[in-house]
Amino acid sequence: MPVPKRKTSKRRRDQRQSTKFIRPQAITSCKQCNEPTLPHQVCTECGYYKGRKVLTTKNDRGLQRDQIRAAAAQKAAAKNSQDHSHNDGHDHSAHE
Ligand SMILES: [Zn+2]
Repeated sequence: MPVPKRKTSKRRRDQRQSTKFIRPQAITSCKQCNEPTLPHQVCTECGYYKGRKVLTTKNDRGLQRDQIRAAAAQKAAAKNSQDHSHNDGHDHSAHE
């Protein structure tokens, strides 16, 4: 009968046992936006960690882009309206 040459060390035994009880990943919810996140990690949705903003997320960049575009559109609209008022002031077709 085959017999093991050496006694299994505690380390070897415990390493084997460690995979016996694999548990599901702990998931917590973000306090800022209630999205599911991993504990002790920055929320990737809102970029908050411990109630403090630490990351600029993809959403933030999108919002910034929208704001810039809106501002540009407003500027363009203001310019256009000014041009129109200017044109109305000197409208030559009204004399005909
Ligand atoms: Zn969050």
